[in-house]
Formats: sequence, structure tokens, C-alpha cells
Amino acid sequence: MMSEPLPIATGARQDKPNLLGMSMQELELFLQTLGEKPFRARQLMKWIHHQGVVDFDAMSNISKVLRQRLKQLAVIELPEVVHQHSSADGTRKWAVRVHGGSLVETVLIPEGQRATLCVSSQIGCSLDCSFCSTGKQGYQRDLSAAEIVAQLWLANHSLGVYREGGSRVITNVVMMGMGEPLLNFDNVVTAANLMMDDFGYGLSKRRVTLSTSGVVPALERLIGKTDVSLAISLHAANDTLRNELVPINRKYPISELLRATRLYMDHLPDRSRVVVFEYTLIKGVNDLDQHAHELAALLRGIPCKINLIPFNPFPQSDYKRPSAARVDRFKRILQQDGYIVTVRSTRGDDIDAACGQLVGKVQDRTRRNERYRARLRPDEALVKVIN
Ligand code: SF4
Repeated sequence: MMSEPLPIATGARQDKPNLLGMSMQELELFLQTLGEKPFRARQLMKWIHHQGVVDFDAMSNISKVLRQRLKQLAVIELPEVVHQHSSADGTRKWAVRVHGGSLVETVLIPEGQRATLCVSSQIGCSLDCSFCSTGKQGYQRDLSAAEIVAQLWLANHSLGVYREGGSRVITNVVMMGMGEPLLNFDNVVTAANLMMDDFGYGLSKRRVTLSTSGVVPALERLIGKTDVSLAISLHAANDTLRNELVPINRKYPISELLRATRLYMDHLPDRSRVVVFEYTLIKGVNDLDQHAHELAALLRGIPCKINLIPFNPFPQSDYKRPSAARVDRFKRILQQDGYIVTVRSTRGDDIDAACGQLVGKVQDRTRRNERYRARLRPDEALVKVIN
């Protein structure tokens, strides 16, 4: 894939609304305040999301007067791409600097006909899952809807999609990067809906996936607000082990999580869709035969797929990746029970593929991790976000 020159950052002008993250409805309301007709919103969305145009002056079917007013009253603002890496296996990773100076990362994973973009929803994360590099960095703030959508825009731009004759490269988006999407509810819902909107990025509802570690009340709130596909970061089939791996489980145990998951899936208009359960396999921790049998029993009766993710080691963790034979054995046990199981291939090792790893490395230069961990007592972050 060719790479476009990086777009310029337009600078942080948070005092003006950023049209990049507005839904059609929000854009129509905004234009209404300027005395404009709703169809202008469609025109603007096409320029921004279809054509990749962020300069009002280049929007030729919009009157000069309106362009001038938009320049005065709004921005189309993108974060700055500060690192861009390509792996030998085709994986790409971008680190972007958002308002305030922090970095977030976005990863593109090409696989056959599909190219999946993994986007971040928060700067860092407060949930501190024990196997996650992002969790070790602490939480700074939520990303705005514009900052989430910008990751897709920037990847499209970088891949040449907006060039003349350019065609779509990214087929799937997963909100599985830095952060817990459901703790940034409104912005994530707006961004996901924009990605699925025909005047936005026009991605299929089956191909935009929100992945949650299990913020149960927020999962219930999703019903009726979006019909994005759902992935559950499960990683353990009993509460004792999951409490250790995914601390939010202490607040919302597995039974609650599965109840809310069923509820969400039951409300989707398309009943043929299935939920994906993600299960990171950690050597000697949750990768034994008994764990596979337990998982099979737990998910029985739920229309689902299981995605096994061999643990991606990173410096602050003592966990290890299981052998390929162990992963295969785990997979076979589940398949024998009738499950559709995929194994995420290990990608981008040469560009720090573990979620949060690239940004962690850059930010470690400021020793932020150490300062964060010295400050935070166990469970403090969890209590902070849930209460
Ligand atoms: S796995 Fe997800 S929810 Fe857990 S700490 Fe990492 S980013 Fe946060």
C-alpha cells in the first residue's frame, strides 16, 4: 500500500465546534442556527468523510458566504500524526498527538480481503486489566467523537483513499484500541454511528465492532442508540480468575455481563448477528484444557464466535504467550463443542503490536507510568470510574 504525505495538524482550537465528529443530526442543528437548510449537512459530510476535504475553501458546491461563516464559527480539526510504522507483515500503526499533547494509537491489520482498523477511544485506560499494556499507563481523558473519527480519516488519508481514483481500503473497524469504549459512551456512540452512516464512512453494521470489558449499565444503555456489532473481552470463564485478569468483573460479574450481552443482541434488528467473545490466552493462567471446557460450558446457547488472542508480551508484564500447540489444543476443544473459533495471528511484532505498547514506549520517556503507579492504590481507578 502506498502512503500519502502526512496531513498537517490544524492546531487545537477547542473553542469552536469540530465538524469532523458531528453526526448528521448535530450538523443539521448546527447549520440550522446559521439559517441553512438540512441538505447542507449532507454536502459537508460528503466533503469531509467521502472526499477527505478539511479545507472549507475547497468545498466548491458550498456558497462563498457560507464557507466564510463556517471558517469563522467552526473547524475541521485533525490530530497530528507523530509516528507511523509499517510492519513487515503489513500491519501499520499510527501514533497521533491529540489536544493537550497526549498520544493515542491506531492500528491497521490487513488479512486477506479484509483490512481492520483498531481505534482508540480514551487516552490510556482506568480499568487496569492485568494483561494490558494500555492499562499500565493509567487514564488521562476521553477522546472526543472527532478524535475517534479522525483515526479513521487519517488512516484513509495515509492509505491514499482520498486521492483521485483512490478506493476504500479499510473494511472493518474495531473499537478495541486504547481505552474502554463504554466509559466514553456518548462520543463512542456518535463516532460508531458516523462510521456506519452512508454520508459518513458507510461501513456495514456487521463490520464496526465495539469491544467492551463489561461495563454492564452502559452496555444496557446502548440498546436503541446504535446497532454496532459487539465484542466482549472475556478472558476467563469463572469470576475468580476474571476478577484477577479484568478487575471490573468485581463490580459486574460474568453472569451480569452475559445477561446484558444477550439483551443487547436480542434487541438488534438483524437477529442473525452474533457476539464475539475475546479470550487472551496467557501461558499457565487461563490456557489449560479445563479452562477451555469451562468456557465452552459457559457460552453454551449464546450465538457467538470465540476469538483467541495469544498474549502479546510487553516489558511491564510477567505473563507469557502459550505455545502454538497449546493454542491449537485450546481451539480444538472449543471447536469440538461446536463453536466457531478464530485465532488472532500474531502481527506487527516488529512495531510493538500489543495495544498501547508504542505509545507506552514513547511516553515512558517521561516516566509517566512510574509516576502513575506510585500514585494509584489498587482498585482506586476502578472505583473512580464506576461510582
Ligand atoms: S484491556 Fe481494554 S479495558 Fe482493559 S485495561 Fe486494556 S484498554 Fe482498558
